[in-house]
Amino acid sequence: MNLEKTIKSLEQKLYTVRCFDTHEEAADYLDAQIDGKVVGFGDSRTIIDMKLYDKLSKHNTVYDPNQSVDNNGFLEIAKKCLTTDIYLTSVNAMAETGKMVNIDGTGNRVAGSLFGHEKIYFVVSTNKIEQSLDEAVFRARNVAAPKNSLKYDLPTPCVMNYKKTGELKCFDCRRPERICNGIITYMRKMNDIEDVEVILINEEMGF
Ligand code: SF4
Repeated sequence: MNLEKTIKSLEQKLYTVRCFDTHEEAADYLDAQIDGKVVGFGDSRTIIDMKLYDKLSKHNTVYDPNQSVDNNGFLEIAKKCLTTDIYLTSVNAMAETGKMVNIDGTGNRVAGSLFGHEKIYFVVSTNKIEQSLDEAVFRARNVAAPKNSLKYDLPTPCVMNYKKTGELKCFDCRRPERICNGIITYMRKMNDIEDVEVILINEEMGF
């Protein structure tokens, strides 16, 4: 993984980039930057592990679908996240070329990451960086998505196969529980979002 090349590529694609050695440092930075705002979260393991909801809620209004108790609650909060001042999420994979990839089942994470905010933060650990876009898409489909399915213990072939063999692999299934319904490549900063900042964390995190 070539971090220097990745940062340069992201900057060429008009993203602001900041790197941190630890997720604690990154969380403190975000906590200092985001104040008095309405904040929405996309579904992200990395953001959960950084405990950003607890930190930011003390001095912002924060909507986090993961705080809901059921699917209706999840959808209600997820809708509110679509037009917040600030939106935070992650990506499933990133290429050294600066292109980023997300897979979504419900669509809230991807929808919120494209439009409707003054600022978006993508919080991404460096274990998600691949050399090429093809490899990033492969990672998103065959590593991130099966791990995400595993988190919910879904009755999908990727989970059943992992339990049997320990191998992460997508079977492009037709299960109703499938979480891979849309895939997006972020090719460059979206035009009407004032600033999109990529927070890189030099640790193994998320899916
Ligand atoms: S398409 Fe199906 S098998 Fe493939 S990762 Fe998604 S849920 Fe698993």
